[in-house]
Amino acid sequence: MHAESSPHTTTTTERGSFALARCSCGWSGPARRSRERARTDASEHLGTTTSADTPQH
Ligand SMILES: [Zn+2]
Repeated sequence: MHAESSPHTTTTTERGSFALARCSCGWSGPARRSRERARTDASEHLGTTTSADTPQH
């Protein structure tokens, strides 16, 4: 079953008033106060797998 090319499946989990993103690869984002932030973390995690062009530090 290889429907998706990426092994990364992200989900958002809510813990109390916080939300954090988790991935099937074992990665988990920091606890955020908003679910949208957690989703942004998830999309950024997915983005880092392909775009290594401009490292933002
Ligand atoms: Zn991942």
